[in-house]
Amino acid sequence: MTTLSSTLATVTPTDKAYRLLRSTYTTVGSPSLILLPRSVDEVSEALTYAASTDLPVSIRSGGHGLSGSASNDGGIVVDLGALNTVSVTDPATGIVRVGAGARWSQVASALSPHELVISSGDHGNVGVGGLATAGGIGWLVRSYGLTIDHVRAATVVLPNGEVVRADAAEPDLFWAIRGAGSYVGVVTDFDIEAEHLPGLQVGQVMIEVDDAGTALRRWSEYMAEAPRELTMSGILTMSGSRVVLAMTAVVAEADPRAAAAMLAPLSNHRGTYRSPLTPARYTELMPPGHIHANLGQQATTTTNALFGRLTEASASALVEVARHRARPLLQVRGIGGAVNDIATDATAYPHRDAEVLVTATLFPPLGGRELGEAVAPMWPHALGAYRNFDSSPSSATFDRAFPGATGERVRELANRYDPDGVLSRTGGGPERKC
Ligand SMILES: Cc1cc2nc3c(=O)[nH]c(=O)nc-3n(C[C@H](O)[C@H](O)[C@H](O)COP(=O)(O)OP(=O)(O)OC[C@H]3O[C@@H](n4cnc5c(N)ncnc54)[C@H](O)[C@@H]3O)c2cc1C
Repeated sequence: MTTLSSTLATVTPTDKAYRLLRSTYTTVGSPSLILLPRSVDEVSEALTYAASTDLPVSIRSGGHGLSGSASNDGGIVVDLGALNTVSVTDPATGIVRVGAGARWSQVASALSPHELVISSGDHGNVGVGGLATAGGIGWLVRSYGLTIDHVRAATVVLPNGEVVRADAAEPDLFWAIRGAGSYVGVVTDFDIEAEHLPGLQVGQVMIEVDDAGTALRRWSEYMAEAPRELTMSGILTMSGSRVVLAMTAVVAEADPRAAAAMLAPLSNHRGTYRSPLTPARYTELMPPGHIHANLGQQATTTTNALFGRLTEASASALVEVARHRARPLLQVRGIGGAVNDIATDATAYPHRDAEVLVTATLFPPLGGRELGEAVAPMWPHALGAYRNFDSSPSSATFDRAFPGATGERVRELANRYDPDGVLSRTGGGPERKC
C-alpha cells in the first residue's frame, strides 16, 4: 500500500467535518477516509493511494448522483469539491474551463456577466463532474444539446495515477469521457464551449391528458416540429381523478415577442393552457440558492426511459404509469433538437434519435419493487435510457444506457484504462459486466 503525503487534506470519522462530507444527496455513507485533493497532482496521489488498498473507492464531484455511488461504507472517497474554479478562458470563442467539483449554479453565476450559458441540467446543486461525464440534460437541451456535446477537452487522472489530456488527439479517451467517463478515469477539469445567450423566457404550460394519451401524443408531435429554442420539462401527474402534464417552457430567445410566437401554436391544442412568458436569465433557473450540503436527505428510487416521438401505444402506456396506485413522480422532457444533430457513435451517449425522456421516481417506504411494477408498461416502447437518471446501476441499466456497439466499446475502454477495476469498486452492481 502506498502512503499519503502530509499535504493532502483528509477527513476521518472523528473529524468535525465528517458529518458534512460522509454522504451524498440520496444516501448516507460511512466511509473510513475522505481525501480532499486541491490539485490535479493531489487527485493523482489520492487515486493511486485508493487503488493500492482493497477498499471500496468512490469518486465525488458534487455528490448529487442518484445511486449514492459518490460515497460508500468503510472505503475511501476522493472528493473533488475543492477543484471548483470556473474561468472564462476565451470570451470570444466562449471556451470556459470548469473544475469538476463546481456545482452548476456556480457555473451559471460565473458565466452570467459574459452572457454565456452552458447547456447542463435543471438543478444548480448538481456537480459538474458527474453530469459532464455522462450527458447533461436540462433547461437548454433542445437548443444546444447535451453538456458533453460542448466538451472540447478535459484533464483526466487515470486509475494508475497518470494524468492525460483528453481531446481530439486522444480519440478513445475523449470518446469515453463524453458519456461513460466514470469507467475510465477521474476528470478534474473540462474545457467547454459555452453559447452566447443574452436572455431567455420562461412560462408554464398545463395540458389535460386523456386516458388514450392523445394529448400527450399531440404535445410530442408539436415538440418534434417546434423551434429548437424551446425546451419543455415537467411532470405527468394526477390532479384529482384526471391526469395532467404540468410543464415549464424555457425559450432560449431574448426577444419576448419572438419567444411567444414559438409557443403560440400550443394554444390551438384543446385542453392546453399557458401562462404568459416572463423574461429571465439563466442564473434564475440555476440560482446560487440551489446549493446545499448533501446529507443523505433525499432517498429515492429512480429509473428512466427514452422514447421516440410518442405513439398511441407509448402515450397510453405513460398514462397507465401515471395512474399506477404507487403514484410515481413522472418527469417528462422534450429532448430532441440539437441533441439529435450528433452522430450516434460520436460520443458514449448514443441515443440521438430519442425525442422524449421520462424519469420515474418513488420515495420511501416505496422502493425498487414497487417502481418496477409501476413502470412496467413503458418498457416495451422505450429506445434506451439515460444512465444518470437511474438509482440502481445493473447489467440491465448498463445495456439500456449503452446498447450494442456503444456498450462493447465502453467495456473495452474500461478494461484498457482501468484494468484492475478500481473505479468499479464502489459497488453498484455488475453494471460494467466486463
Ligand atoms: C435532484 C436531482 C436533479 C438532477 N437533475 C439533473 C438534470 O437536470 N440533468 C441531468 O443530466 N442530470 C440530473 N441529475 C443527475 C445528475 O446528472 C447525476 O446525478 C450526476 O452524477 C451528478 O453529478 P455529481 O457531480 O453531483 O455526481 P456525484 O454524486 O459526485 O458522482 C456520481 C458518480 O459520477 C461519477 N463521477 C463524479 N465525478 C466524476 C469525475 N470528475 N470524473 C469521472 N466520474 C465522475 C462517479 O462514478 C460518481 O460515483 C439530477 C440528480 C438529482 C439527484
